[in-house]
Amino acid sequence: MTMGGFSLVDVATPNARRSRQARVVWGARTVTVGGDAPVRVQSMTNTDTVDVIGTAIQVKALALAGSELVRITVNTPEAAQAVPHVREQLDRMGIDVPLVGDFHYNGHRLLADYPACAEALSKYRINPGNVGKGAKGDKQFAQMIEVALRYNKPVRIGVNWGSLDQELLAAMMDENASRVAPWDAKQVMYQAMISSALQSAQAACELGMAHEQIILSCKVSGVQDLISVYRGLAQRCDYPLHLGLTEAGMATKGTVASAAALSILLQEGIGDTIRVSLTPQPGEARTQEVVVAQEILQALGLRSFAPSVTACPGCGRTTSSTFQELTKQIDDFLRAQMPVWRVQYPGVEKLKVAVMGCIVNGPGESKHADIGISLPGTGEALAAPVYIDGEKAMTLRGDGISQAFQQIVEDYIDRRFAKTVVV
Ligand code: SF4
Repeated sequence: MTMGGFSLVDVATPNARRSRQARVVWGARTVTVGGDAPVRVQSMTNTDTVDVIGTAIQVKALALAGSELVRITVNTPEAAQAVPHVREQLDRMGIDVPLVGDFHYNGHRLLADYPACAEALSKYRINPGNVGKGAKGDKQFAQMIEVALRYNKPVRIGVNWGSLDQELLAAMMDENASRVAPWDAKQVMYQAMISSALQSAQAACELGMAHEQIILSCKVSGVQDLISVYRGLAQRCDYPLHLGLTEAGMATKGTVASAAALSILLQEGIGDTIRVSLTPQPGEARTQEVVVAQEILQALGLRSFAPSVTACPGCGRTTSSTFQELTKQIDDFLRAQMPVWRVQYPGVEKLKVAVMGCIVNGPGESKHADIGISLPGTGEALAAPVYIDGEKAMTLRGDGISQAFQQIVEDYIDRRFAKTVVV
């Protein structure tokens, strides 16, 4: 459309790839994945599952941070025996997040030998590259699917390039070599991953599993590789897709790589559930991977999890660290309150707060937020105007600006988001 010489173009919105919808259930809690459900956030523990209390405590922390499904390692008979106890512990703590069992190599035996484990889990992750070779692999895969059918559990068929079915890859490499114009090796690897996922899904369906009970993933650790593989996978099926850059790495590198890869795919409508596979820094909370996953979805405008804080980067116009400290304090405060506020103040996650460093963009950005403060830059009068719903509401002065602003934010939230009590 053209108006007065200006062209108005549509702002790109995520394309809608409509997948089927899987249901992951624990007790009264159902987490839908795919279809019109919001993109789900998942995480995985790094505790030894045999440590029941340690695992339950970490699952609880991940769930309270907002993880909607939590995967735990089930690698030994002892771990399989521990699973129902982890579940019981969580139920006692009032944590109803569904648990996903991560199986490799011996999953068929563990699921068959420990029915309480099979029942306590809400979903099984099966890696087709690690179920065994040839006919034996087919049989062991079938055994896992039979258990899933017996207990009515969905499965994720999770291919990973670090453990890709080597027989399938070799066969596809041979086939490729006989082409008139062979693809490069990477293309063959992408196709082998996609084929491994689709063939396993087909086998599961032939064994009686409903199409809707299957989620697929094809994880790699390179950003461009992930984008290529998932575009190919999304074109060829309507299974819900679990998205994640495997072994993303640590801190900034892992966060940026995950955000880059996942954002491109999510913007194209690809991905029904995500995990950010961060390597925690020493002493860093495991919940950081949940925070990053949420931030990606929130930055894309796909979901809201916690009030967002807009802050300027600072520059030579503001030489004090006050606004940096206030930004961090408000950000930490808002996120820390969310487990309670989610229940107490429905909709609070959409709140927008601005903390700005000087008069240049401070008042303007603050007016765009629900509540914003423009701190004094170097040489400006020691006054911090506060804007509420676009209007200047007051000016803070003195040493207690941070505490006063936090109180103003709390009061605003209470006024605007408190549940209406019907008497
Ligand atoms: S708002 Fe002021 S302090 Fe912040 S970046 Fe802009 S000019 Fe610098």
